[in-house]
Amino acid sequence: MGFSDRQEELARVHAEILRCDACGLCRSAAQHVPGEGPADAAIMFVGEAPGAEEDRQGRPFVGTSGALLTRLLTLAGLDRRDVFITSVIKCRPPGNREPTAAELAACRVHLCAQMAVIRPKVVCTLGRIAAQALLGRPLSISKEHGRSRRIGEVLYAPLYHPAAALHQQRLRATLEADMVRLREILAAELGKQAE
Ligand code: URA
Repeated sequence: MGFSDRQEELARVHAEILRCDACGLCRSAAQHVPGEGPADAAIMFVGEAPGAEEDRQGRPFVGTSGALLTRLLTLAGLDRRDVFITSVIKCRPPGNREPTAAELAACRVHLCAQMAVIRPKVVCTLGRIAAQALLGRPLSISKEHGRSRRIGEVLYAPLYHPAAALHQQRLRATLEADMVRLREILAAELGKQAE
């Protein structure tokens, strides 16, 4: 599939997301937040759910954790414009509460459809909820962060959520160190696949 075909496919997936009312979160949210980035991005970052600012703008990670994420990406040698950024849940849960299992299950189809089009080589999960959703089991992010593993053709790299790093200085240092390490992981992974 060429780039413009993928762009078209991704636009179709995003149109589906904008029409979705499967879990009911869209009734309290201002709008759906599908995500953004190149349709052929090699790297995806997946958070938990839109917050207040994302809900207002309809774009992922544009609030305070988004500003931190944009800065953290540079530690991994990345520019925000080159990666695809989204969340496992596409509508803001009321008061930023954690998404329920039913909401996660209902929204899963959208992330799967995005991944099927984009076909990322590396997926970085941000926080416990995204790591659990993508690795498919309950886990402790304090144990799993920074430990990448391959499932099928995709390398998954679980990281702390930037929001956690905003609240705890100690986690910020850990997340920064994981981002620096991610730079090496990406060089090895993307370099190898280019051979
Ligand atoms: N936190 C998330 O997990 N996703 C966003 O889009 C914004 C904040």
